[in-house]
Amino acid sequence: MTKKNLKKDDGNWERDGGGGDKNDDFGPLFRMPNKGQFKFSLWYLILAFFVLMIVQNVMTNTVPDSLIGFSDFKKKIESGEIRHVQIGENYYHGYTEENNGRGGGKIYRTVPVDDASFIPLLDGRGVSYHRISEKPGFLTSFLLNWAFPLLMLFVIWRFVFQRMGNIGQNVMTLGKNKAAIVAEGDTGVHFADVAGEDEAKEELVEVVDFLKNPQKYTSIGGKIPKGVLLVGAPGTGKTLLAKAVAGEAGVPFFRISGSEFVEMFVGVGAARVRDLFKQAREKAPCIIFIDELDAIGKSRINALGGNDEREQTLNQLLVEMDGFDSRTGVIILAATNRPEVLDSALLRAGRFDRQVLVDRPDLAGREAILRIHARGVNINKDVDLREVARDTPGFVGADLANLVNEAAILAVRRGRTEVERQDFSEAVEKLIAGLQKKNRLISPEQKQIVAYHETGHALVAAFTQGSDPVRKITIVPRGLGALGYTLQIPTDDKYLMTEEELYGKIDTLLGGRAAEELIFGQISTGAANDLVKVSDIAKRMITEYGMSRKFRNVALNSRQPGIMGTAAEPHGAYRDYSEQTQSRIDQEIFDIVESRYKRVCELLREKKELLEAVSRRLLEIETLEEKEFKALIGV
Ligand code: ADP
Ligand code: MG
Ligand code: ZN
Repeated sequence: MTKKNLKKDDGNWERDGGGGDKNDDFGPLFRMPNKGQFKFSLWYLILAFFVLMIVQNVMTNTVPDSLIGFSDFKKKIESGEIRHVQIGENYYHGYTEENNGRGGGKIYRTVPVDDASFIPLLDGRGVSYHRISEKPGFLTSFLLNWAFPLLMLFVIWRFVFQRMGNIGQNVMTLGKNKAAIVAEGDTGVHFADVAGEDEAKEELVEVVDFLKNPQKYTSIGGKIPKGVLLVGAPGTGKTLLAKAVAGEAGVPFFRISGSEFVEMFVGVGAARVRDLFKQAREKAPCIIFIDELDAIGKSRINALGGNDEREQTLNQLLVEMDGFDSRTGVIILAATNRPEVLDSALLRAGRFDRQVLVDRPDLAGREAILRIHARGVNINKDVDLREVARDTPGFVGADLANLVNEAAILAVRRGRTEVERQDFSEAVEKLIAGLQKKNRLISPEQKQIVAYHETGHALVAAFTQGSDPVRKITIVPRGLGALGYTLQIPTDDKYLMTEEELYGKIDTLLGGRAAEELIFGQISTGAANDLVKVSDIAKRMITEYGMSRKFRNVALNSRQPGIMGTAAEPHGAYRDYSEQTQSRIDQEIFDIVESRYKRVCELLREKKELLEAVSRRLLEIETLEEKEFKALIGV
């Protein structure tokens, strides 16, 4: 994800705090100095404290007139000048007047030395004396020993929590932070601002319709999905689509991001989720959008060490989703680019049971996205955006938005008033280099291999009896690993499969690798997944369906056979046959695959011209729909 993206994602919902005035008592201490208005601040408190200390000092201690040596002090006693002595711990005070100096006269002060003859001297001279305690007054000692340390502790506590980003407030108002999540008003985004995601848009149109006319659905008793999960690579426009849904429906939009919960204290995330749903119910119809769902929705099983906070948040989310009826008019959208890590509980019926794939855009999609982002930019007539789209395979919406921006910046730097072709090509080069570094683009050579591979599948399917029709071929990489795919959809529901159809399936699967070998003379790892499926079908044909030559009409596995494609039991874990039979089965699998592969290679050799033509076209436009494919191969 780009920086720009992150920033945008983060800025849109706010927390309480910072601006609230209920906790501003000590504000100016931690604020920028020029921002401080006159408020009751800590500084005044400290000042008052010192003033108090001084006043108290003045009141309790009379300031002596002069400090003299102890021997002089003794002399003044002997001479009768000092009439009264105050014996303190550190000082002796001598008064020339009997009544503690309050009636006037002088006060002498001295630092005493250990002198056993001092008291006898006083007694002998008839000088009155008394001992005084120099302990501080009650108020001073209270302030010094209790109030001040406590105050300091409080100040430090406040300071630390302010630094930790207002979490202090979250703790203090745990569970009842009212303004934590605010509804965004009109998002201002419409479906027209999202391009290249027609399938995803189609799915979301229904959601919009429900939000606009809920009674239309509720009066029939129809059910609307509670949760829709947008799945797709970063930057493909998931957040944008969610905003568009809100914008089209014209309803409030509550947005939270899963990553916001990660750094919180235990319990805060769950409280926030509760609060979010409560608010949403009050504002219904509305949309709750949980961005980056994977941050809280990670599988609880695989999580290392466990994260109490996340688990509590996730549990609360599940509880809230179960606890309301979609007829209340609250729809939950969520986005993730890692659906595979989500806790399965989230995907269960009644939660995020509908998933919408937000694919990487193909050529036409990229062109449309470029047009959207070029709207506000001065672009020279001779810039062909289709050409730019052709040059940017693998780019997602965010990359393309970035590209237009980059080209505009280059133009400005050159002092132009219009963005020209050259600016675009330079921007493309720059971005491609960056994306390749991040391993997000595949090279043109690899792309070619993928194109022939997918065309191989499609051609074999098209020319094999009993194969399902090819609906779509694409070399736009899917988020999760697949570099391309060929989509076949059966024309009708099948409860039985004939031997011929099973062979057709095997052939089609082998078509990818065969095409690679035929064209490039070598094979790649791209077929790994296909081969797993091929072996699985072949094995089932032999051991379960009795369809092989050697074991015709014999079920070798008496265990409950799984339904095609849904097998869960590990093969070979238990078997009801001998070691010898096993090796014959292995041989039989090998024979089947080999003979089918030969047949497929032959077929493709025959159709090599078509293979070339379709692959070229596929490389050009990246996605071939059924109609165009059929037209190309002339069936
Ligand atoms: P995601 O949430 O899937 O990571 P975003 O929705 O945040 O991606 O996309 C980031 C930006 O990229 C958007 O704000 C928009 O400018 C641009 N963008 C992404 N996808 C598209 C698209 N399909 N059409 C138009 N613009 C797009
Ligand atoms: Mg996003
Ligand atoms: Zn394949």
